[in-house]
Order: sequence, then structure tokens, then C-alpha cells
Amino acid sequence: MKTRKLSVRDLDVRGRKVFVRVDFNVPLAEGGVADDTRVRSSLPTLKLILERGGRPIIASHLGRPKGKVVPGMSLRPVALHLARLLETKIQMADDCVGDLAGKMAGGLRQGEALLLENLRFHPEEEANDPGFSRRLASLADLYVNDAFGTAHRAHASVVGITRHLPSPAAGLLMDSEIAALTRIREHPDKPYLAVLGGAKVSDKIDLILNLIDKVEAILIGGAMAYTFMKARGVPIGSSRSEDDRIDHASAILTRALNSGVRIQLPLDHVVARSPGPGQAWETTPGQAIEDGFVGLDVGPKTRALYAGEIAKARTVFWNGPVGWCEVPPYDEGTRSLARAIAATEAFSVVGGGDSIAAVNRLGLGSRFSHLSTGGGASLEFLSGVDLPGIQALAEASPEDAPPAPGTRPAGRQAAPADVDRTR
Ligand code: ADP
Ligand code: MG
Repeated sequence: MKTRKLSVRDLDVRGRKVFVRVDFNVPLAEGGVADDTRVRSSLPTLKLILERGGRPIIASHLGRPKGKVVPGMSLRPVALHLARLLETKIQMADDCVGDLAGKMAGGLRQGEALLLENLRFHPEEEANDPGFSRRLASLADLYVNDAFGTAHRAHASVVGITRHLPSPAAGLLMDSEIAALTRIREHPDKPYLAVLGGAKVSDKIDLILNLIDKVEAILIGGAMAYTFMKARGVPIGSSRSEDDRIDHASAILTRALNSGVRIQLPLDHVVARSPGPGQAWETTPGQAIEDGFVGLDVGPKTRALYAGEIAKARTVFWNGPVGWCEVPPYDEGTRSLARAIAATEAFSVVGGGDSIAAVNRLGLGSRFSHLSTGGGASLEFLSGVDLPGIQALAEASPEDAPPAPGTRPAGRQAAPADVDRTR
């Protein structure tokens, strides 16, 4: 597998139209952007291109319009928001392909950018249609992919287009995601600890199996813990478990045992008879949950144990809240976990939308080495899958491209690549 690929830093973008695939799949509310984390994440790449005299042609999907024009999934509100953040004029094209988009792209002046309408208004985007890829490519001179969150999708603007533009390159967000995730996937500093929570085991089976080959221990919390407890024969009361995944959970426990990897389940729990805000709750004395009670958070003994283990680790990966974190007081376990990871000197990576939201609510984002916003793409990457969007960049890159981040020897500068090379 080729892993070397170009970075946007290696491109000579001056005077060029640069097709930039971003992930602007943001929640909208009242005609505006409800959470602009993803828009902000793309700013470094867009600023770099603008500062170097390039003309960004920005493209993204939003929601699941399933190949049709859905006015409520227009990127227009994002254009307004982006113009404010970038302090730049952003033109908006009503379609991501076609004559008008072509004219607008051609008429861009230095310092301006063009945002194309939702790529998924065309069914050819998700079909990775070659003709559509070519039409997208015809709008620009160069290609940059900064949509790490879409890298696990073999779509036209992610994969097909890389065959039609020279020197396809990774954006800065893409680079930093790959660097951090490659580090923990390929060469983590030991001891390496994973903390997994969240709603379901079923979402994360491949991730857990891959982690077993890398980590010293996995600390489990959240609703996922009850399925593992059931697999070990520990009573879980009325807590939710995935009964059709108990076999998977057992297989994971056996595999971990055979690999010498410890899977730590909670020592105690915060439980309630009726889950809901303001309802009475209590802490269990031990691991078992009595009939009639629902587990909603890890208890104080578990929090202390996990914090102690985290303090000794040199690499920590965390995915998934360890309790019902939207409803106090059941967020206390997740808050204590976030604080413990924030306090270590370890290389720390957190992935997953709900986990990152919890970290940000505590204002601890800057205390983590890396917040991986890639969602499904991050988890697939850590499950050992080669993501098609990254593969496409690597395969299309010239032989003398700089090594992928994370594989670059420290202190050595990569030679600038020949960006004019056409294939
Ligand atoms: P992430 O988005 O970080 O990957 P997940 O989507 O897997 O995390 O899971 C997050 C959800 O799991 C949250 O909505 C959280 O409230 C829920 N959750 C975790 N533990 C419990 C629990 N014990 N009871 C109810 N909900 C829980
Ligand atoms: Mg989630």
C-alpha cells in the first residue's frame, strides 16, 4: 500500500483554482449554522490557499438529500457563515457542476472563494460516477481533500476526481487527523490505554478487535458495559444491553484474555429505578445491578480506578461517554474521565461526536493532544481499514512525494514535489 502523499503545503497554488473538498456537513437551525466546528476546522487550509494567492472552489455534502435537490439541505447558510469567519467574499453557485459554476469559478478574483452547492443533490456523487468526477474536476486546476470525515466514502468528490486533476493533495485538517491517528494505530508510546463507552457495542466491534492488538488495557464504561457484564454473567438489572451481541462480547473477552490484554469493566454504577431528569438515584456497592434498577453512569470507585490508570499511561485513546452524559448527574463519570485525561502528559486522542461535545462543554479541548472530528472515518481508520479517500491521494501522488505524516523521520525536510506534473 502506498502511504506517501502530497500536502497542500507542497502545492504552488498561486493564481490557480483549487478544488477543496471539505466536510461542511453541519447541523442547521433557524436558517443558520447551529454548530460550526467543522467549518472552523477547514479554515487553516482555506486561509493557506488564499494567502498564497490561490482561488478556492469549495465543495461539500450536507445531510442525506439522496440525489435530489432538497432546499433545506442547501449550503447557502454555510456560505454566509464562512464569509464571516474568513472575512472574505464567498460566492455561492446554485449547482456544484454545470456552465454557471464553471463561469463563476473562472471569474473568481484573487482573495475570493466559491462555494459549490451540496454535492449530494446529484446521485452521481455517491455513485463515484466517472463523468461526474470529470465535470467537478473541470472547474479547477488543482485538488485538495480536507474532508477527513468523508474519507471512508468512495465518492466522486473524494475518489473519482483525484484521477482528473494533477497532484491531488491532503489539506491541513486531513494531515493532522492522519498524523494523530497513524501514531496511535501504528506506533503508540506504551503503556497504551483505551477507554471505550457509548451506547452500543455493535458500533465498535471492529474497533475493539483492532485495539486488542495494540493496547495494554481497555477500560469500558457506558451502556456498552452492560452487554459485556451480561457476557461475564454479572447481573445488570433492567439496564439496556444488546442481547444479540452477547456472543460478540464474549468472543472479544476471550480474545483479549488470550492476547494478555485486560478488559476492565466498571466496579460500581450510578443507577435509578426510573431514568429521567430529577429522579432519585443511588450508587451500587459493587459490580452487580439489582433487578428494577437501570445503570446510567459509572460509580465513584470506577472513576477513581480509571483516573489512576490514565495517570500511568503514555498514550490514551477515548471514545464514547461512560454514562448518560446529556442528563446530570449522570454526566459526572464522563466529566471525571475527561478531566483525568486532560490532566495527563500522555498523548491523548478523543474521537466521537458525543465525547468531543462533552470535552468541549468542560472547556478542556485544548488539553487533549488531538480531537478527532472524523466520526465514522476515525473509527474505521483505527479499526485498521485503509480509507478510500486517503488511498486515492496516496495512489495518485508522485513517487517522490513526501512520506505520509507520522512516517516522516523527525528533523528531515521533505523536498518540494513537482506540482506541475500531469498524468
Ligand atoms: P460518540 O458519539 O462519542 O462516539 P456514542 O454515540 O457511541 O459516542 O454514544 C454516546 C451516547 O451514549 C450518548 O448519547 C450517551 O448518553 C449514551 N450513553 C452512554 N452510556 C449510557 C448509559 N449508561 N445510559 C444511557 N445512555 C448512555
Ligand atoms: Mg455519537
